[in-house]
Amino acid sequence: MTEQKTHPRSNCPLCRLYEQREISTRFYYENALVIIVDCLTCSIPMVVLKRHTDNPSREDIKEMYWALLNKVPKRMHGKGWQIDSSVRSIPDHPHFHLRPTGK
Ligand SMILES: [Zn+2]
Ligand SMILES: [Zn+2]
Repeated sequence: MTEQKTHPRSNCPLCRLYEQREISTRFYYENALVIIVDCLTCSIPMVVLKRHTDNPSREDIKEMYWALLNKVPKRMHGKGWQIDSSVRSIPDHPHFHLRPTGK
């Protein structure tokens, strides 16, 4: 617990994506606030907020939705796809998946 508090970022694979540029999957888009790559475990597009926090602002969330809706290929929208905003695996770093509804 204590260790996690002192070094939250070095242990976080989402922080490493944009801080250490550890991008080994498909890259879609990046700006000052967010980055979109394929999730390493799910192999589907995932938007990651470029801030390690368990309390994202409404603007942060809006930007994440905007990026997913505008910056991944059009075929990945509408029927068959939905934004999954649950953050089960890493609850203290906001990230949303764009997931096929069949899965
Ligand atoms: Zn993080
Ligand atoms: Zn994933």
